[in-house]
Amino acid sequence: MQPKEFETDIKNDWCAGCGDYGILRAMEKAFAELGLASHQIAVFGGIGCSGKTPYYLEVNGIHTLHGRVLPFATGAKLANPELTVIAVGGDGDGLGIGAGHFVNAGRRNLDLTYLLFNNEVYGLTKGQAAPTIRQGEKTKAMPRASMQNHLNPVMLALSSGYTWIGRGYAYYPDQLTLLIQDAICHKGSAFLEILQPCPVYNDLHDKHWYERAGISGHPRLYALSSENYDPLVPAHTDETLRDEKFTQGMRKAQEWGERIPLGVFYQDLSAPEFTQQISQQTVSYLERPPARQVPPVHNSKSMVDMQSLITRFIL
Ligand code: SF4
Ligand code: MG
Repeated sequence: MQPKEFETDIKNDWCAGCGDYGILRAMEKAFAELGLASHQIAVFGGIGCSGKTPYYLEVNGIHTLHGRVLPFATGAKLANPELTVIAVGGDGDGLGIGAGHFVNAGRRNLDLTYLLFNNEVYGLTKGQAAPTIRQGEKTKAMPRASMQNHLNPVMLALSSGYTWIGRGYAYYPDQLTLLIQDAICHKGSAFLEILQPCPVYNDLHDKHWYERAGISGHPRLYALSSENYDPLVPAHTDETLRDEKFTQGMRKAQEWGERIPLGVFYQDLSAPEFTQQISQQTVSYLERPPARQVPPVHNSKSMVDMQSLITRFIL
């Protein structure tokens, strides 16, 4: 499929200039370049501007509940491990109400990809401070500066156990496409923070701020690969190397302001993937996952009445 074939004709109501468009285009390009077809992909959206993403992609998808995108994505992957499963949502959705799911999805190392659109505000509800905005910062929609400390998504992902962790920028579509592809290809839980300017409510960290040089004159955004940064923990490794890579990732994750790293912070190929672990306990699991099983019958009748279920949803 070509990237354009992943577009739908549903009217997109994101604001003009929103970083979400860059992410949508990068997703379409990543799917096409990986040779994926629509029926092989399932995209789940949380609640917020970014949560509407499944409407705009010609793939399987559900616009789920506030903070609950990861349980939906987890369920789909466990039911059908052959699916390429992607969860998308904002920083408020994923790190506010959804923080518990965020942490526990990392612990499992299930093979799915979580794209966090980070604009530091709750855009859909008119720009309130989200958990990623720093203490003392104030955008134009906030009456006062934030009094709370912020959450650092990359550090939280590292400590939760995600085995692929990266950061991209919504207006660098080529790099973002590669990062999304890399995250999808990783066999384990992949977390990609995407810096996503919200031109309507976040006037503090807008496109100009991100792309302007810092006080030192160096570009604020830079690629980790430009510093020969190596995030990889190989499949057969020892604890010492894993600790070193983890500590290196934690250190880089704290860089912000004058210099902001983009790229892959950490990738651990040594951790067992969750469906592989299940198949060690239930040997038939990967051959006959729930999606390949015939629904239970009672008196020669399926106990799952899909027709009435669908009719109820439509009504
Ligand atoms: Fe994008 Fe912000 Fe508009 Fe939401 S409110 S669509 S995040 S620009
Ligand atoms: Mg947000």
